[in-house]
Amino acid sequence: MHSSNVAHFTHFDLEGTSYKNLGFADAITGSYQNGYGCVIRTADCVPIALFDDEAELFAVVHAGWRGLVDNIIGETVNAMKNLGATKIEAVVAPHAGVCCYEFATQDMGKIEASLGRDFSSVTTQNLPSLNLFELASHYLEIANVVNMSQRPPCTICDTSYFSYRRDGTKARMALIALCTSRK
Ligand SMILES: [Zn+2]
Repeated sequence: MHSSNVAHFTHFDLEGTSYKNLGFADAITGSYQNGYGCVIRTADCVPIALFDDEAELFAVVHAGWRGLVDNIIGETVNAMKNLGATKIEAVVAPHAGVCCYEFATQDMGKIEASLGRDFSSVTTQNLPSLNLFELASHYLEIANVVNMSQRPPCTICDTSYFSYRRDGTKARMALIALCTSRK
């Protein structure tokens, strides 16, 4: 999926361990109080964990560039706010870095036209690239989320990560959020 659908996780289907009632989503919100974790899987896309320690709410987001531009971050933040979140912080995990993320210039033009800002750069091979971290940071900023992350490692050139771009692999990294209530 590369959408901006957000689902809220409340319980496991006790018949098994499925969460089929959620439908398809690229972001899942959860509560510290239900004791369950949420996970998304990526290889090059941008994994983001959002949390509000006061409201005891969290979310995990799987964001490709289309999901970012479709405002999956804003949608997820709104879903958290509807559940009671007020002060949200974010951690952005490793994804395709600007050093390696080759990107079509016509898509770059669409992003610039819709956001009025240029997120382009060049790879270490001097090819056009998209700065996904800057793009994600932009959406976190306009959603009033505190971004706790420095630029994370690049999944394409750092071979300790799985990369679809580099290897065409089906393997994925997991970003897991599991928070326990202190109340
Ligand atoms: Zn790289």
